[in-house]
Amino acid sequence: MEYKDYYKILGVKRDASADEIKKAYRRLARKYHPDINPGNKEAENKFKEINEAYEVLSDPEKRKKYDQFGSEWSRYQQAGATGGFDWSQYVNQPGGVRIDFGPGDFGGVSGFSDFFETLFGAMGGRRTTGYTGRGFSTRPQRGQDYEQTIDITLEEAYNGTQRQLRLQVPQVCPTCRGTGVQGNNICSTCDGTGVSGEQTRTLTVKIPAGVATGGRVRVAGEGGPGINGGPNGDLYLIINVLPDPRYERDGLDLRQRVPVDVFTMMLGGEVRIPLLNGKTLTLRIPPGTQNGQTFRISGQGMPSPSNPRQRGDLYIIAEAQLPGKLSPRERELVEELRNLRSASHVGSA
Ligand SMILES: [Zn+2]
Repeated sequence: MEYKDYYKILGVKRDASADEIKKAYRRLARKYHPDINPGNKEAENKFKEINEAYEVLSDPEKRKKYDQFGSEWSRYQQAGATGGFDWSQYVNQPGGVRIDFGPGDFGGVSGFSDFFETLFGAMGGRRTTGYTGRGFSTRPQRGQDYEQTIDITLEEAYNGTQRQLRLQVPQVCPTCRGTGVQGNNICSTCDGTGVSGEQTRTLTVKIPAGVATGGRVRVAGEGGPGINGGPNGDLYLIINVLPDPRYERDGLDLRQRVPVDVFTMMLGGEVRIPLLNGKTLTLRIPPGTQNGQTFRISGQGMPSPSNPRQRGDLYIIAEAQLPGKLSPRERELVEELRNLRSASHVGSA
């Protein structure tokens, strides 16, 4: 594995301030941005490298760890590489389930170098557990849990859905069983990463009907690999239900504003309303319906995630649609109606 000099990559001194680091990063990022260098593989790699360096040096905790590691590393190199470098306190646990969603989906976590992943973990340090500074033990350890946000539509939340996930799962190194070390030395099979290669696994995850934003779907055993024979962690999909402009969701109830032409509201009639389950509801509008009048359709709201047979209600709010420009004949009729109304009001007053 190649040691990465993040200070050199950003062209700053070792004691550079946060501000100097930010400035250097911005200048370089502008220069090597892929939009400015389309198709230029070298610029793209440079851009990745700059981002990685900034990811570390802009984060005080990561920078501290990196600096500690760096001084140990140079001592080790000056000593002529005898005795073996003790990586154990720096090596992160094998990590990083990279997730790609199927077509039409979202996500994916961009790649960092092996060096970065060894020190900070494959998800850029966004791990729910991870390096704790307490060093390593040889007891079995459960793999990490991973979280991934997943967007679904309200329709999918209403009916339940599924997602095909493609997981890039790291394989635990058979030599060191995921610890990254052999005795006091870095494991030579996996270079201390604890991981030997990756396996692509495809799985279909069912997302139950009735889930709401913030809900979690647990996919057992699909998190980080266990260490020293420990069990795998779990993968949690964190649900984000995308807003649907047609509906307001209030717990299990749904509210929908439906335009109804003013003549139907005055005279009565029917409106056809498409539902989230693909069916169509025919709603009877009684004569003399007021603008904003609400109709409760029992049991057509969201299902309860714990009991799909329990459902909320759907509230339909009738919104009067007024005709726009009137033809001369229509105008005549509406005027006549108005005169009739005011005459009857005068008469009844
Ligand atoms: Zn190993």
